[in-house]
Amino acid sequence: MAKYALVTGGSRGIGRAICLRLAKDGFDILINYRSGKDAALAVKAEVEALGRTAELLPFDVADLESTKGAIEAWQAAHKDSYIEVLVNNAGVRQDAVLPMLEAEQWHKVISTTLDGFYNATRPVVSKMMRKRNGRIINMASVSGMMGLPGQTNYSAAKAGLIGATKALAKELASRGITVNAIAPGFIVTDMTEGLDKENLEKTIPAGRFGRPEEVAALVSFLASEESAYVTGQVISINGGLYA
Ligand code: NAP
Repeated sequence: MAKYALVTGGSRGIGRAICLRLAKDGFDILINYRSGKDAALAVKAEVEALGRTAELLPFDVADLESTKGAIEAWQAAHKDSYIEVLVNNAGVRQDAVLPMLEAEQWHKVISTTLDGFYNATRPVVSKMMRKRNGRIINMASVSGMMGLPGQTNYSAAKAGLIGATKALAKELASRGITVNAIAPGFIVTDMTEGLDKENLEKTIPAGRFGRPEEVAALVSFLASEESAYVTGQVISINGGLYA
């Protein structure tokens, strides 16, 4: 039977690398994105070239009705299957020091991460519970662990996601479902484009930004059967930036 993984924000950056890695691991992939259809179609073709199926599932994770609607429509069309792995990866950053941070920027970042977690996880988790099997992997950040200046919104959102991860892990541990968070440091994607890479690299013990594929390798482990006893954890991948 096909095994399905849903990756929110799967069209670019870390999400794209996760889609490809989970396809190599034998999953059929549901690629969520918000607006970049061409990028999502390119990932779909790459997944198919690896011999797995891929479906596009466009929705804004911050929007309850469209997220719930898209996931439930997929579930209705695939009654014999279920989403075994959910990667809550969609995220945005809108940095500004607090006196300059507009309410819109505050809400946008909080909502994409925290409402996104709730909106995508709730429709998926009941079926996992019935099957007594599932993997939920939440993309947090070093920013949610140590706090970064100019990122009160982003640090708050990611710290909140870590809290939700720990609580849900305890709710679901007896049902064979694990819930973990990954906290990357600086990874080379569109999100870190425009940062002062040369100076930031001096602050990273490993001396470089990470690659999306390195984060995807961690997702691969957390999505695997072998990781069954790892739950409620926040796993850092940051080149030693914060330990
Ligand atoms: P990215 O390159 O900017 O890609 C973001 C992805 O999320 C895109 O596929 C985008 O789709 C999607 N997305 C954004 N808002 C969405 C929404 N409301 N609904 C559905 N999809 C949405 O970002 P990234 O660097 O790969 O980051 C991925 C995750 O890792 C994020 O949660 C980020 O906070 C976290 N992270 C990244 C870093 C880093 O250094 N890059 C470090 C720590 C944590 P569209 O193009 O269609 O909008």
